[in-house]
Amino acid sequence: MAQQPLLPVEEARARILSALHTTEKENVPLAQALGRVLAEEAIARRTQPPADLSAMDGYAVRAADVSTVPVRLKVVGMAPAGGAHEENLREGEAVRIFTGAPLPRGADTIVIQEDTSRDGDIVIVNEAAKAGQHVRVCGLDFRTGDAGMPVGRKLSPADIALAAAMNLPLLSVYRRPVIAFFSTGDELVRPGSEPGPNQIVSSNNDGLAALIVEAGGIPLDLGIAPDKVGSIRETASRAKDADMLVTLGGASVGDHDLVQEALTPLGLDIDFWKVAMRPGKPLMFGKLGDLPMLGLPGNPVSALVCATLFLRPAIVRMQGGDSALHTTLARLGRDLPANGPREDYIRAGLDHVPGELHVATPFEIQDSSMLSVLSGASCLIVRPPQAPPLKAGGIVTVLPLRR
Ligand code: AMP
Ligand code: MG
Repeated sequence: MAQQPLLPVEEARARILSALHTTEKENVPLAQALGRVLAEEAIARRTQPPADLSAMDGYAVRAADVSTVPVRLKVVGMAPAGGAHEENLREGEAVRIFTGAPLPRGADTIVIQEDTSRDGDIVIVNEAAKAGQHVRVCGLDFRTGDAGMPVGRKLSPADIALAAAMNLPLLSVYRRPVIAFFSTGDELVRPGSEPGPNQIVSSNNDGLAALIVEAGGIPLDLGIAPDKVGSIRETASRAKDADMLVTLGGASVGDHDLVQEALTPLGLDIDFWKVAMRPGKPLMFGKLGDLPMLGLPGNPVSALVCATLFLRPAIVRMQGGDSALHTTLARLGRDLPANGPREDYIRAGLDHVPGELHVATPFEIQDSSMLSVLSGASCLIVRPPQAPPLKAGGIVTVLPLRR
């Protein structure tokens, strides 16, 4: 394969995202809507509150009757939540009322229980109240026809509660994209099996499946393909109904041609295959026929860091969501040397300092095979290409790994 210049990370991500289509819309019950991306406006089917309701336990009164206090009013009935006092409230009258109950006609104000005393069927109001006090007016929250959360929103528990309150049992969301993937390598066996003397356990399959689920996709684990053209081709062909194919490993210079050789007869069209980043230079993107294909490096840390930077936004984009990486600023916890020509993603701890920027402290060892380091990291420090040396206390951009 001809030499290719190293592509900047941002450009590589933009090229991947621009090659993707959003999935179709589907209606799902609220119980399945958490974390899905809203595809169509959620339009309220009712007004909330449906009438003027009491916000407190107390007495529904006419404001005019309680402008001078103390005053004695006749208690003529009761309104619990889910009930109502049906008669008009007349001058000099009050209705015992509870939170959530509708105000009787003629009443416009709630006097809280604590500001009253009782004398048989008389209530003595001891504190003056302004008209409208402690009343939740009809439509305060939303009205029939109002739109709830915006399209493109990743649905939260509060969004789902809002949809329920709007009397919408279903929401329109984008279908979760199916992400097919497989590892390549004669040395790999599944977790739980007995590795031979020259074998290691594949961590990438399960790690990637988890990342796909977290991003909102459906993982389709095609297993481990031995380092043979026929096996790689056969395994990749099982991805044809997926929305995207991800290969893991076989992407270093020596192996790269094997994946390429295997997939070219299936219609592989490579967009790029080298990105100016560390960990993970050999990152491939292209199309296998119509199927977007991402080739991730085999080193476990490189695989997951590249998946975080490229696959996660791709999965979010396919669902019509916000694919931006949400980086933030932190203070550096130890000196860093100058960076080379590749963007560096440094595994680091993140200490919370109340009222200050968090402190990001790089781990001593940054070996791209060490999952113990990645597992212990709370963020990646993003070091731009050619960044000069930076002393502890300097400001760095970080990508938090735990939300
Ligand atoms: P490769 O990209 O195939 O050259 O792999 C680079 C390194 O990552 C090698 O040391 C592989 O043994 C290792 N590796 C590749 N795939 C996996 C995997 N699925 N799980 C764990 N390590 C892997
Ligand atoms: Mg390999």
